[in-house]
Amino acid sequence: MSTGNEVMHDGVMSTGEDARIFPDVEACIDCGGCVVSCKRTWDVPRDEQRISIATMLEGQEAASGLNASSGQAMEQGESPGETAVPMQCYHCSNAPCVSVCPTDSLISKENGFVRVRDDLCIGCQYCLSACPFGAPQFPDEDSGVADLVGSGGNMDKCTMCEERQDVGKGPACAEECATDAILVGTPAQISDELDNRDSGTFFNDVAMDIIFGEDASEFQ
Ligand code: SF4
Ligand code: SF4
Repeated sequence: MSTGNEVMHDGVMSTGEDARIFPDVEACIDCGGCVVSCKRTWDVPRDEQRISIATMLEGQEAASGLNASSGQAMEQGESPGETAVPMQCYHCSNAPCVSVCPTDSLISKENGFVRVRDDLCIGCQYCLSACPFGAPQFPDEDSGVADLVGSGGNMDKCTMCEERQDVGKGPACAEECATDAILVGTPAQISDELDNRDSGTFFNDVAMDIIFGEDASEFQ
């Protein structure tokens, strides 16, 4: 497992314990490369996406033109214009899904990864309601009765490519992103990289507290 300050890739600054994954929305060009790399790497079923791109305000121009910084526009109370946000499990420090799971199927591991224990999941989909980022997926759900306990199938979501990280690789989506829009590293490394790029966090303070917990202060 690779840890520390080793630079592996422009977007992947370090992996392993304490590494986090977070988007630079200024760099995302909505190409879908991350979605493809994840599906290819993990044979994700056709109807499931462990990562997706949420395009907000599609076709709308930002206050100072289409290339304005989304973060700066919002700080000024202006519309950010069209913004593409890579959405996946961010392995939150204060993970709401872990809090609501009635069977402790979801756990926050000591190394920071949020994992699903398939053998305990009863498919209640509480985590789907709790996650602000739309991360939980239910590829095996029986859609006719999926709102009944036990009919949702096992929850699946982004694993942050923990198995790849265990052998010294970075998450596939981040390594294959052509514009390095998916950042992997410690909260301090991610914050520094966003500053170096003159990018913002895009998410509001509540979301940043959920994702990073006390490390959210690194981004202020
Ligand atoms: S669907 Fe599974 S992982 Fe999600 S809350 Fe229910 S038991 Fe937990
Ligand atoms: S970190 Fe891995 S599992 Fe998660 S979205 Fe990226 S490629 Fe998929």
